[in-house]
Amino acid sequence: MSDDLRILAVPALSDNYVWLLADASGAAIAVDPGEAAPVQAALSREGLRLAAVLLTHHHPDHIGGTAALTRGNPVPVFAPHDERIAIPCTRVGDGDRVELSDPGLRFSVIAIPGHTKSHIAYHGHGVVFCGDTLFSVGCGRIFEGTPAQMLASLDRLAALPGDTLVCCGHEYTVANCAFAKTVDPDNAALARRLSQARAQRERGVPTVPVSLAEERACNPFLRVDTDAIITALPDAPDRVERFAELRRRKDDFRAAAA
Ligand SMILES: [Zn+2]
Repeated sequence: MSDDLRILAVPALSDNYVWLLADASGAAIAVDPGEAAPVQAALSREGLRLAAVLLTHHHPDHIGGTAALTRGNPVPVFAPHDERIAIPCTRVGDGDRVELSDPGLRFSVIAIPGHTKSHIAYHGHGVVFCGDTLFSVGCGRIFEGTPAQMLASLDRLAALPGDTLVCCGHEYTVANCAFAKTVDPDNAALARRLSQARAQRERGVPTVPVSLAEERACNPFLRVDTDAIITALPDAPDRVERFAELRRRKDDFRAAAA
């Protein structure tokens, strides 16, 4: 990420993050504002001014604060083609570009269906805003797509440069590492990530953003082609089935932990 930009993870709702990306003038974009109040508080605390809103998918915990944030401050709002987002906005889809003059930021839009059918990511300036598709050491639940679709979406994200900062929608890292250890127990990078994430949470700081290179080393959902995951899931005939089996096990793991 270039030096004149600042990125902030603003905690919202129970475990969401709203992302703020600001330039040196204090103009900021907000990504997935599920709630307005914490965003307004962060903007005022940091001396920032909201200049645009980017939305990745239609779930209320990602869009719910948009109306309040833009009331009386009609900044541009960008969102995927999905009528369930009933907000005045510019619709964008795969291959489109979001070009902002204030702050001067440009993003390319990547379609990443699976969690929802119209989910998109925004990539630019060494950052990717990936909503609920890629989490640190995990991935989103598949609500509206197929495992093959979700895996293809993760493949697209994983192909971005290794120094890309992954800005995801939730703080799930510690629990995700606990699951990842069950299928990738000898992964030293994963063990380091877990102890680092635990320490970060004990200090009350976010575990994200994290580099994509780190995710490739730790995240089992990006590692379906590695010997470790192939060995852990010997009955799955191919990478899509390995991914589907990982996702099923993660669903059960969460259910068992809850
Ligand atoms: Zn979601």
